[in-house]
Amino acid sequence: MRIILIGPPGSGKGTQAQKLMKVLEIPHISSGDMLREAVSQGTALGKLADNYMKQGALVPDNIVIEMIMERISRPDAKNGFLMDGFPRTLTQAQALDLAFEKTGVKLDHVLLFEAPDDEIIIRNAARRIDPLTGIIYNLRFDPPPKEILSRLVQRPDDDEKTLRVRLVKYHSETKPLIPYYSKQNLVYEIDAVGNLEEVQGRIFKALGIA
Ligand code: AMP
Repeated sequence: MRIILIGPPGSGKGTQAQKLMKVLEIPHISSGDMLREAVSQGTALGKLADNYMKQGALVPDNIVIEMIMERISRPDAKNGFLMDGFPRTLTQAQALDLAFEKTGVKLDHVLLFEAPDDEIIIRNAARRIDPLTGIIYNLRFDPPPKEILSRLVQRPDDDEKTLRVRLVKYHSETKPLIPYYSKQNLVYEIDAVGNLEEVQGRIFKALGIA
């Protein structure tokens, strides 16, 4: 199954993908995680992406498209994937469609995570990541065990100023993907306001998984 997750920053795409990938037995491909990994390893890609990411801007299409095309060509993605954070622009969506056409595969679903901007700002302020396991917690909605609290970190681009830039980008660059994929009858709207289990239940229902 090939699934794309679209939604504003911090709407729970990554958290839900971590659960869903185990159920569907397909890899979770997160463009943001791949770029952060490249930045932390100091690769050429990471050096190119770093400044854009710090400012909450989008990394240029050609760079991200090349990175994702290489990733989906790997054997583990042959039978499907959960794509989170890509595509984020119409150019990226068209590049993905072209790649699908060439390889004769098709997209099955687009899950659109919906949450109002006010809620997104509150959630992102409370988002924390465990650097040891990569697990994402939320101090308000999905609190971590007390014993690991002191080692949790906040993503640098989750500060309010940068987050607001990311939200503006979401509305201007990514939202046009909704009519693009709606025309292909692929979109399921998921109300992303609620606790982890509630949102997960809505996704399972949309996908017809028990
Ligand atoms: P995310 O973890 O998905 O919130 O992504 C973090 C940051 O990585 C974004 O704010 C962008 O700077 C960059 N990024 C991730 N995915 C993309 C993409 N598909 N296109 C452009 N920039 C991206």
